[in-house]
Amino acid sequence: MSLDLARLRAETPGCAHVLHLNAAGSALPSKRTLDATLDHLRCEAEIGGYEAAAKAHDDLEGFYPSIARLIGAAPDEIAFVENATRAWDLAFYSLDFEPGDRILTCVSEYSSNYISYLQVAKKTGAEIVVVPDDNYGQIDLGALERMVDRRTRLVSVSHVPTQGGLVQPAEAIGRITKQAGVLYLLDACQSVGQLPVDVDRIGCDFLSMTGRKYLRGPRGTGFLYARRATTAHIEPIFLDNHAAKWTDDNAYTVRDDARRFENWERYFAGVIGLKVAADQANELGMEPIWARLRALADDLRGRLATVKGVTLTDLGEVKGAIVTFAVAGVDHVDLRARLRAQAINVSVSTQFSSRLDLKGRGLVNVMRASVHVYNTEEELDHFVAALEQAIG
Ligand SMILES: *Cc1c(COP(=O)(O)O)cnc(C)c1O
Repeated sequence: MSLDLARLRAETPGCAHVLHLNAAGSALPSKRTLDATLDHLRCEAEIGGYEAAAKAHDDLEGFYPSIARLIGAAPDEIAFVENATRAWDLAFYSLDFEPGDRILTCVSEYSSNYISYLQVAKKTGAEIVVVPDDNYGQIDLGALERMVDRRTRLVSVSHVPTQGGLVQPAEAIGRITKQAGVLYLLDACQSVGQLPVDVDRIGCDFLSMTGRKYLRGPRGTGFLYARRATTAHIEPIFLDNHAAKWTDDNAYTVRDDARRFENWERYFAGVIGLKVAADQANELGMEPIWARLRALADDLRGRLATVKGVTLTDLGEVKGAIVTFAVAGVDHVDLRARLRAQAINVSVSTQFSSRLDLKGRGLVNVMRASVHVYNTEEELDHFVAALEQAIG
């Protein structure tokens, strides 16, 4: 089944205003997602926040099965969290590390995650081990297999980095962690909504995700997946009266589902908006979305390769919807501003988002153009023409 592109565009209000190549930053939501979010905010203002939540009970509860369906999980393995970083933190900081424990990660790891490794290493004496890349620029699976040992407490990688088209071989990593009996935390912030993600096929124990990127949900939303079979014994680093019950003067019990990672107050309109966004992805189907995004991104890479001064910088055997490139002799930040003045949205990824990767490749920063289903070949024409003109 292929996508109805004209309809997808017509149902995305932002398409009338901008040429948006920044899905990896924050994608354009559909009108349906926008309306669901706004309707709930309006309802809160009209009848009261608690009363609006009671009225929207079914939609709010529907969040869990909708997300679960998207990633092949069970509804009780999903927690709503306000963004991917906090979702990831909730999993990571809930683990007890001891001196000599090893955390294995990849070269292209996201900066916030790496900062957390550094902090925990400093506090606990755990060690960070960066598994090298193979010739494709993705994690070297042979090296990973050799490096996973008795001291390894966690394998933690980003599925798709913020700074490029690379898609890490998440399933192959999962086979190695399963074999070794090691916990596997997957940062799927750029992959869910972009490509089919199935937690059982991948074999991850935790997965963190944000709403606003490839899922096209509202900002300030995200979720954590926690596999029941392997993580049910892990008590969250934070507890409150939503995650736990105060059962006796000196005792509490913790929820036994993944909602133990949640807290009480949240962005209810965002929960509903993200549910609708996930429903839409489920309805369109992740296979057709992935096929379309890969085709568009490959098309864009092909066009950029012919532009004088442009070098493509995406790594990996499989390349996805995030297209990055460098332009010789041009200040990328300035270029982004010049394009934005023409209502063309692209981004710049810097060493602050992935130091080891970009620094290792001698790149200060890269231009990033990330496509989504509402983008067209005509927009790519327009973008490349504007780029050529801007770099003169
Ligand atoms: C954007 C991003 C994050 C952070 O997501 P937030 O929702 O901003 O917390 C984490 N990991 C990767 C790979 C990202 O691209």
